[in-house]
Amino acid sequence: MKIAIDIDGVLLDIIITYCEIYNKRYGTNYKKNDVVKWDFFADWNMDEETGFKIFFEIYADSQSIPFIDDDAPKIMKKLNERYDLDIVSARVPEYRSSIIDKLESHNIMAGIQYTEMILLHHRPYDIKLKQKYDLYVDDNPNLVEPIKKMKNRTLLLFDQPWNKNSVCEDNVHRVYNWEEVQEKIFDL
Ligand SMILES: [Mg+2]
Repeated sequence: MKIAIDIDGVLLDIIITYCEIYNKRYGTNYKKNDVVKWDFFADWNMDEETGFKIFFEIYADSQSIPFIDDDAPKIMKKLNERYDLDIVSARVPEYRSSIIDKLESHNIMAGIQYTEMILLHHRPYDIKLKQKYDLYVDDNPNLVEPIKKMKNRTLLLFDQPWNKNSVCEDNVHRVYNWEEVQEKIFDL
């Protein structure tokens, strides 16, 4: 089985750092829980380009982003021993060394916790499905409906405020932490 693990929203709480930068810049007081949509830019009166500028700044220096779940490294190691686990992220490839440093600082190492790191462009929103994986661990609600039509694939939707409205059924399961990621995968 080939498994694709996402970075942002699954390993790293990037949106917390995003809100901090945005608030400082624009005098607002947004919190992670205010981000209830994948494309929240419009609600915050930003165009996508301005919105992504902040993401790119964080991609360039990721050290301060909070790590989501301390169980992740040992579970990833176990999964990568038993299956084939890749990190698949829509962080653009230019920022590869920054994300490798950040993940290494949390004990997520190439050859141990994962096999390969695949970095893709963020458009179209379901670009990851062009890669052939059996199972995705991802917080992106745009993957939910397309995967429901791909019966030989599975999505573990990592619970986040921006995917609460996604209906998880059939081959799409909602998970709340890494312990549940492991349980679900072992159950399949
Ligand atoms: Mg993500």
